[in-house]
Amino acid sequence: GENMQAFGPCRALPQACNKLELYRLTAESSLLNKLIRKSLVESSHHVEVLQRDPSSPFFSVKSFEELHLKEELKEGIYGMGLKRPSKIQATALPMMLADPPQNLIAQSQSGTGKTAAFVLAMLNRINPQEKFPQCLCLAPTYELALQNGRVVEKMGQFCVNIGVAYAIRGNRIPRGTTIEEQIVIGTPGTVLDWCFKLRLLKLKNIHVFVLDEADVMIDTQGFADQSIRIQRALPADCQMLLFSATFEEPVLAFAQRIIPESNVIKLRREELTLNNIRQYYFVCENREAKYRALCNLYGSITIGQAIVFCETRRKAKWLSLELIRDGHQVSLLSGELTVDQRASVIQRFRDGKEKVLITTNVCARGIDVKQVTIVANFNLPTNLMEEPDFETYLHRIGRTGRFGKKGLAFNMVERQNLPLLLGIEEHFKIKITKLDPDDMDALE
Ligand code: ADP
Repeated sequence: GENMQAFGPCRALPQACNKLELYRLTAESSLLNKLIRKSLVESSHHVEVLQRDPSSPFFSVKSFEELHLKEELKEGIYGMGLKRPSKIQATALPMMLADPPQNLIAQSQSGTGKTAAFVLAMLNRINPQEKFPQCLCLAPTYELALQNGRVVEKMGQFCVNIGVAYAIRGNRIPRGTTIEEQIVIGTPGTVLDWCFKLRLLKLKNIHVFVLDEADVMIDTQGFADQSIRIQRALPADCQMLLFSATFEEPVLAFAQRIIPESNVIKLRREELTLNNIRQYYFVCENREAKYRALCNLYGSITIGQAIVFCETRRKAKWLSLELIRDGHQVSLLSGELTVDQRASVIQRFRDGKEKVLITTNVCARGIDVKQVTIVANFNLPTNLMEEPDFETYLHRIGRTGRFGKKGLAFNMVERQNLPLLLGIEEHFKIKITKLDPDDMDALE
C-alpha cells in the first residue's frame, strides 16, 4: 500500500492498534452481536437513576400495559415476543414516554433492550396522519442504521401509514423530493447532507431525536461534531435520547454536552467470572500433538459445541483444514471475511449447523457466543511481551455468574509455555487441572 510507512509500527501488533481500526472493530462487533442475539441479556444489577428533577419522580413499570401504548404498537411488541419490559426498559420507558417529554441518557451493555426501547418511544410519538419526518435516529454505521430500521419495521408492523427513510450512503434521493416517512434513520454525515445540502429534511419538525451507540459514535472521526451540529438545529422542545453500551469519561462528557438537561440511567455490566468453569490443560510437544489432543477430546466427551482459539489466522486455517479432512464439521471465522460473511458463520454456528468454530482473537473479540459448552485454547493468549494476557483469557472462557451456564475449558500448552499457565492460575487464583492427552478418563 501507499501508506505502509505510516502503519509501520503497527504491524507488530496483531490486534487493533490505531483508532480507525479500533472503531471498525467496535462497530462490527456491535453489529455482529445484534445479528446473532436472539434474546435479552439479563442483568443482576440494579438500574442507577439520576433524575433531573427529583421532586417529580418517575416510577418504573412492571408491564407494558402500564405504559398506555397505542393498541397497534402493543400488538407489535407482543408479536415480537416481548412479554414484559427489561430492566433498562422498566426504568427508561416511563421517562421516555412522559408528557412533557423528558431527555434521557442511558447506558447499558449490548443486548439489554435499548433499541427496542427507543423504537417504541419513536413509534408511540408519531402522528401517522402527518406525512413528514418527525423522529430522527443517528447510528454510527450503515449496517447499524439498517438494523435499527428492521426493528422499527417489526415493532411497527401493525401501525398503519408509518414509514422509515434511510439517510445512509448510497441511498440517493433527488433534491426536491418530499420525504413522507415519519422516521428517518441515518449516519451523521448523510443526515447533515439531507438537512443542509439537499434540503430534504426539515429539522424543525423533528420531535424525537435518538443518538444510538454514542460510544462508537465518538470514536469515529467527525461523528461527534456532526451529531452536535444536527442537535443544535433541532427545535428547543425536541426530545433527546442518547444510548451507549459503555460509559467511560469521554462518552459521558459527550453525552452531557449534547444533551445538557437530562435524566441519566445506568445499568452496570455483568462481570465475567471463571467460577463456574472447569479448566484443564494438556502438555503437548508440538502442534500435531495439540491436534491429536483436540481430536481425543472430541472423541471422549459428548461435545455440544466448541470454540477453538488459535493465535494466528494461518494456524486457524491449518486447524480447520485438518479437522475437515478428518471428517469433522467445522467452521472458520476468519479476518478475511466481510462482516456479512462473519455474521452468517456465527449464525450457522448458533443454529448448531456446525459443532466447532475455529477463530482467532481479533476475529472473535467482543462477540458473544457464550452459549457454547466448551472453549479450547489451541494457544494460551499472550501479549507482546510474551506474558499471559489475562483479560483475553477471561473473555474467551469466562461467563457471567448468575445466568451463565457451567462451562468447560481446555488449554493446549507446549512445555516451554507452562509458566504462562502458572501465571494464569496465580492471577485468577484458580486451579487448572492437568490431563493426559491420551487418557481422558480423568475427565469423568
Ligand atoms: P440493545 O439495543 O441494548 O443491544 P435490543 O433492544 O437490541 O438491545 O434487545 C436485545 C434482544 O432482546 C433483541 O433480540 C430484542 O428483540 C430482545 N428484547 C428487547 N426487549 C425485550 C423484552 N422486554 N423482553 C424480551 N426480549 C426483549
